[in-house]
Amino acid sequence: MFRAILIDKTATGSEARLASLDEAQLPEGEVTVRVEFSTLNYKDALAITGKSPVVRKFPMVAGIDLAGTVERSTSPEWKPGDRVVLNGNGLGESHWGGLAQRARVPGAWLVPLPAAFTSRQAMAVGTAGYTAMLCVLALERHGLKPGAGEVLVTGASGGVGSVAVALLSRLGHQVVASTGRPGEAAWLKALGAAEVVDRAALSAPGKPLQKERWAAVVDSVGSHTLANACAQIKYRGAAAACGLAQGMDFPASVAPFILRGVTLYGVDSVMAPRELRREAWTRLARDLDPARLESLAQAIGLEQSLGAAADLLAGKVRGRLVVDVNG
Ligand code: NDP
Repeated sequence: MFRAILIDKTATGSEARLASLDEAQLPEGEVTVRVEFSTLNYKDALAITGKSPVVRKFPMVAGIDLAGTVERSTSPEWKPGDRVVLNGNGLGESHWGGLAQRARVPGAWLVPLPAAFTSRQAMAVGTAGYTAMLCVLALERHGLKPGAGEVLVTGASGGVGSVAVALLSRLGHQVVASTGRPGEAAWLKALGAAEVVDRAALSAPGKPLQKERWAAVVDSVGSHTLANACAQIKYRGAAAACGLAQGMDFPASVAPFILRGVTLYGVDSVMAPRELRREAWTRLARDLDPARLESLAQAIGLEQSLGAAADLLAGKVRGRLVVDVNG
């Protein structure tokens, strides 16, 4: 038997609870993983609270991330004892997920846990941090180099934002963190932000072209925030958009793109190709300061993740939530 956060369909929507499940109930898959840590991401919070139709098959074990050790494998790529990490691929949405003590998955979904990380540290990174790295990789491929100018990170106190701040500053960029939580300014500066700005300056409707300021932008917020950020990007700069915390809309004009040669990159972590995942994890192991990673994560137990989901959606969680599935 193993413990898991199980989401059932109900007459009015869905309900999440801590359940005890039999290993025989695990889905088909080549690799059985003894999960050590998982995380609570924005998407997990939507699935647990039922606020958005994230879950596509019921009953579903929640959790879009896991880190742990291979227990059994029929895949030639993996053997018992291998340390692994998994993000997305439909985990916790259409395939039983990582907020559980056991998972069974296709071998192709797994990535080796970098030696630099413990399973807890890997989940302090989680999908949010791995997505922040995908954003950084997109901006680097665009040509962003330290010294190019200020790099804006929106939703900076959240999971994606806080890891992006830590990563970009370690890489030598001058990071400006946008947040609605002025009380977190000292924490954001300790993570590496050179300056902290009030998100209200970006979140209301703005002009299509504004004073040029940003060499690049990492945006996890969408809506007017992304539109304003694009309107303030310097000539031939770029934004990497990965989130919708303010909204899914994008009330912008083409002006920044056709008059300033601005580029907007879309970043998806869920179905990202395997080579890109491996590259992102290799870079995270190299470029993320372990002390800063420690300072942006707090650990909770499996059962606590039920209550923490609502807090996360209410913007009350700072940084990343690591879930100890044995805790
Ligand atoms: P968090 O909840 O941890 O962080 C989101 C942050 O956005 C909040 O902390 C807050 O930052 C800011 N925010 C929230 N509401 C608003 C608002 N109304 N207006 C402006 N800012 C707001 O979530 P994550 O960091 O885990 O995820 C962020 C987004 O990225 C989500 O939309 C998520 O779905 C998406 N995502 C996408 C992925 C992909 O593959 N494309 C992968 C991972 C996440 P502050 O308090 O500092 O203002």
